[in-house]
Amino acid sequence: MKADILTIFPGFFSGPLDHGITRRACEMGLAKIEVHDLRQFTHDRHRTVDDRPFGGGEGMVLKPEPLFECLESLQLASREDRMAGRAKQSVILLSAQGQRFTQAVAAELALLDRIVLVCGRYEGVDERVADFLADRELSIGDYVLSGGELGAAVVIEAVTRLLPGAVGNEASTRQESFTAQKQTEASGAADSTCGSGGLLDYPHYTRPADFRGMAVPEVLMNGNHDQIRNWRRKTALAKTLRNRPDLLGQAELSGEDRQIVEELTKELRMKN
Ligand code: SAH
Repeated sequence: MKADILTIFPGFFSGPLDHGITRRACEMGLAKIEVHDLRQFTHDRHRTVDDRPFGGGEGMVLKPEPLFECLESLQLASREDRMAGRAKQSVILLSAQGQRFTQAVAAELALLDRIVLVCGRYEGVDERVADFLADRELSIGDYVLSGGELGAAVVIEAVTRLLPGAVGNEASTRQESFTAQKQTEASGAADSTCGSGGLLDYPHYTRPADFRGMAVPEVLMNGNHDQIRNWRRKTALAKTLRNRPDLLGQAELSGEDRQIVEELTKELRMKN
């Protein structure tokens, strides 16, 4: 996959994307990331990228011309073809007003050949970029950042690790938090049959088995895969109920899961 980033701070990206899985994916040729400096698409002496808002008010607005010219230089398929899915490309404007970026959106983007991430700054971007240039607006969460750069890095990292071959053990990206797909094929190892089914991930432990008196749950050390699977499902349900009860409504729950949730809810009520 090719990812293009449009920004007024190209230097921002030397660092965040040069580590771990993202770096490895680039080295392996699975991903290629190119950063484009919007100031190179200005024509005045001061390389102006912002201007005052029409209608008055605070702050400055990112001008449309450098963004349109930079995007045009990338020679993508037409917006019409992109939006109809005829071209496996997407132009994304990072925006606090966008749709929420979730694991499901990351999985959708991981199927594309090319994503273009447009980073806003100042009070925001001239709205014609959202209306006529970008295919969609994405927000990385309900808070306001000063620029789209961190959002672009978040999107690239979440998408890159879903590219086939990017993560050493592919099963591990299928069973993480939020991943809707629940694995059903019976296999001997407990850890390959615990698809999260839209829940948060179960707790992980490694050695030492006893760290300063804090012991690893006994069940994980007895080698009984059925018990381990049940424990992981129950703790994933418990953590989801405690930290993100909103996810339970959409998660794939079996009858047994529902019973566990009921019991856990009762336990929580007794505690409060
Ligand atoms: N006035 C805007 C905020 C502008 S912040 C508002 O109230 O909605 C400047 C830029 O930061 C935005 O153009 C966008 O590119 C980026 N940004 C801010 N918050 C973001 C978020 N939650 N997700 C993605 N990008 C964000």
